[in-house]
Parts: sequence; C-alpha cells; structure tokens
Amino acid sequence: MSEELQAKRSPSFTCHQCQAGLMNLQFITYFTWLDDELVTVPNFPAWICDVCGRREYDGRAVNWLSTLLSPNAGHSARKPRLVRPRLRRRTGHLAPPSEQ
Ligand SMILES: [Zn+2]
Repeated sequence: MSEELQAKRSPSFTCHQCQAGLMNLQFITYFTWLDDELVTVPNFPAWICDVCGRREYDGRAVNWLSTLLSPNAGHSARKPRLVRPRLRRRTGHLAPPSEQ
C-alpha cells in the first residue's frame, strides 16, 4: 500500500510516446509566438523524456501563460519578458536550447 502512495507521489512518470523513458520535470525556456512577436519565457516548467526527448509542458503553467498573453487580461500586472526581434533573419528553424 505504501508503495502505491509513493508511486503516485513520484515526480516522474513513464513517457507516453516511447513507453521506455521517464518524464522528468525540468525548467526550460519556452518559446511561443504572439502574433508577430516571439515570446520567450525562461524557467518554464516542462516534462521531458530522458529517452526520446518528448516535451510536455505543465498544464497549469501553460494556462497561466495564455492568461497573461490574452488580450483580455489587460489588468494583469506582471507579464513575461517579451523579446521583439526587429530583424527576422532567422526564419524557419527555431530550436530551443537543450537542457544542460
Ligand atoms: Zn520518451
């Protein structure tokens, strides 16, 4: 019984994609586009598979971010740092830095 409890509390879970790796909570830089603006959010929680590298972002954090970025959330005091690339030379491939 106590083993089941420990399993539930485990911070890692099996990857749904490869069924072999473990998803571990890590903090990465999250990239998303808001209209024409590239938004980067440092230290964003994500579950990353240690075998295939699959990423699943924390649902609550994604909701928090989308609320902040929503035009209707105008009264929100805090916003993530916005990065506005003036020149869009680097088009296409956008690879977030891999986790150290
Ligand atoms: Zn995996």
